[in-house]
Amino acid sequence: MIQACAASSLPQLARRKANLAPRKKQGPGDIASRIRGSLSPGRNDSGILGGVPSRASILFVGIMLSGALSLGASPQVPQAPPSTPAPQQPNAEQPPTPRNALGVVVLDPAHGGADTGARGSPGITESDVVLSLARLVRISLEAQGLRVVLTRQAGEDPSFDDRAKLANAQRGAIFISLHVASTGSPGTVRVYSLPQQAAAVAPTPPRPGPARWDEAQQPYLGLSRNLAATIQTQMAHRFPGSPDTPQVAAVRQLRTVAVPAVAIEVSSVSLPDRTLLDKMAPLIADGAARGVADFRPIFEAGGK
Ligand SMILES: [Zn+2]
Repeated sequence: MIQACAASSLPQLARRKANLAPRKKQGPGDIASRIRGSLSPGRNDSGILGGVPSRASILFVGIMLSGALSLGASPQVPQAPPSTPAPQQPNAEQPPTPRNALGVVVLDPAHGGADTGARGSPGITESDVVLSLARLVRISLEAQGLRVVLTRQAGEDPSFDDRAKLANAQRGAIFISLHVASTGSPGTVRVYSLPQQAAAVAPTPPRPGPARWDEAQQPYLGLSRNLAATIQTQMAHRFPGSPDTPQVAAVRQLRTVAVPAVAIEVSSVSLPDRTLLDKMAPLIADGAARGVADFRPIFEAGGK
């Protein structure tokens, strides 16, 4: 549950719809076309491995290699037939790597240990449900080639700070905290990011030195809202009754995380048994993974 995760020093949760500017949706087709674009001919070695070389081009490659070796330089792979001068391509051996690539997702099954989180009928505790859910989300994210780090593996209960440190130590990462609500329409999912006022707990005069630990999320609020939006859109498609747009809440865990960070809250533990939650889990995992995929180009355009 999100409310249990808000700091006790914070005021009552101020939930309101995030004020998101309309944005062109990035679908899988956009991502696929980006990938195709990065693989288009003329960048690196395509054209050499893409077909059967002619005798003339084999001869040309041989001449080029022997010339390069005799000069003690690295062999340069020509980009065009002999009739066209081959331009020099520095670092042509290295595949292009986006500078701000999103490579890691830190998944946070909230609560744990003595802190069970929301409790419903016997046998349904939030801490257990989110751990099972995290394992499924992990599989869906790894299928996209992302590395996934869990803040807890079993029944332990790391502190808020320990979970944040784990995320903040990663490069090219996002953070997703998983919760189950104590109330709400069963079968719905909500995604939250931190509101502006909760990131800056109290106005403080500017001072030299590193940023305050509990303001770590401040520079990432915009990206976090974008991440919440891409995931919420996917959840709305899968779970009727879920909102179309994400919300903001003073989720304590998110304040000290210095990467784009959201909380996903599933409704709810107030059910006779876990059947509905267990049925939702694979769809939540798929929705979260697709939401992250849609967020990837946004992160890589504006992330650190
Ligand atoms: Zn919770």
